[in-house]
Amino acid sequence: TEEKFDAIVVGAGMAGNAAAYTMASRGLKVLQLERGEYPGSKNVQGAILYANMLETIIPDFRDDAPLERHLVEQRFWLMDDTSHTGMHYRSDDFNEPTPNRYTIIRAQFDKWFSRKVRAAGAIVLCETTVTELARDASGKVIGVHTDRAGGIRADVVVLAEGVNGLLGTRAGFRKVPKPEAVALAVKEMHFLPEEVIAERFGLTGDQGCVVEAAGTISRGMAGLGFLYTNKESISLGIGCLVSHFTASLESPYALLDAFKDHPSIRPLIAGSEIKEYAAHLIPEGGFKAIPQLFGDGWVVIGDAAQLNNAVHREGSNLAMTSGRIAGEAIATIKSRKRPMTRDNLSLYKAMLDKSFVVEDLRKYKDMPALLHTNSRNFFMTYPRLLSQAAQNFVRVDGTPKIEKERATKAAFIKARSRWGLVSDAVRLALAWR
Ligand code: FAD
Repeated sequence: TEEKFDAIVVGAGMAGNAAAYTMASRGLKVLQLERGEYPGSKNVQGAILYANMLETIIPDFRDDAPLERHLVEQRFWLMDDTSHTGMHYRSDDFNEPTPNRYTIIRAQFDKWFSRKVRAAGAIVLCETTVTELARDASGKVIGVHTDRAGGIRADVVVLAEGVNGLLGTRAGFRKVPKPEAVALAVKEMHFLPEEVIAERFGLTGDQGCVVEAAGTISRGMAGLGFLYTNKESISLGIGCLVSHFTASLESPYALLDAFKDHPSIRPLIAGSEIKEYAAHLIPEGGFKAIPQLFGDGWVVIGDAAQLNNAVHREGSNLAMTSGRIAGEAIATIKSRKRPMTRDNLSLYKAMLDKSFVVEDLRKYKDMPALLHTNSRNFFMTYPRLLSQAAQNFVRVDGTPKIEKERATKAAFIKARSRWGLVSDAVRLALAWR
């Protein structure tokens, strides 16, 4: 007879690995399918790992996970063409025995996570693409069709296929995300000797630093530049909303080149050897872009479910948490000997709604629309005004301070009008609430 699994997980990224691990370690018969040559091969981006969410799944991950640096410093920069105005937060508290955030290189990290998934008892097949969901006459998902292993049956299919979500879209479970709900990010890995990175950022041992930058670097589009320090490399990139790229005809590559050439960034990567280049989408539609999360015989998790907090630049932790919760819900339904119907699988959404994942996205539900429609002000006008104000404040040239203050005030009013300033502040405050 045909082999049947308790669950099939499509994708071996952060979400899929968390779900497969959770279910396999609770004794479920789990098959995980990944189209890449190995888990992580399609996920080359270096990134920040939020330890807490992994610790909930694998408490002793620090023993053998490939972690690059633990973060002790975060820099937020607002940039114009020649300067940056920064807020830096650095604390010795982050040199704790169990640090809170690490930089990781996904290609290595996903491989490690996958070994844990296998050790927990799941079968993992790479280089296997799920081409379609198998459904019965009533529409219930009963398994998958693959390009290599034929059709395979399972009680439930966990869609962890990432932001593109082709299977879910093709099955009619979700719409193609709108261009204003996804960002396109391009990224490079700049290799430098460990001690050079330590010196440039004032780090010792495996301490790390992150720079996140907004401003004229995105040329008026809603976007962000970022720099993460790894052990012997720096991940550097920039991403903007796809809708803005389309409207502006800006090229992501040109933007990245300009970011690298910015006088505040150039010295940080000087002399580096560029080894990897990657482009990837990020779901940024927030709460209002979350699609239907469950149905008869299926659930969707991680980026495929658009679970990404663009304001705080958190994605992998939402992916892991939604994967863990989906795995726990499925294991609970199974232990009650209930079928994987839409009604029963609603447990996943009920549990997710109570977690920080949905709670955080709900908090910022109006932010994506605000940034999309006001990007020129927030990513061009204000960063410029702030830079001018900062320069005006620190430059000593004999101009009386009162005149300087008047000039700064006048510049803000000229650029946005009194009413515009108040309205921008109110809208930002409301979206942040
Ligand atoms: P993915 O990691 O994309 O995994 C999906 C997997 O499914 C892939 O391995 C893919 O090959 C596989 N797959 C797809 N379709 C099929 C199919 N039909 N059959 C078989 N396999 C399939 N998040 C953070 O938390 N911190 C950061 O610092 C951070 N930085 C980022 C920087 C960039 C440039 C980008 C693009 C994203 C960043 N993110 C960050 C977001 C984070 O990467 C994602 O939220 C996270 O990877 C989502 O995990 P996932 O498992 O849902 O999807």
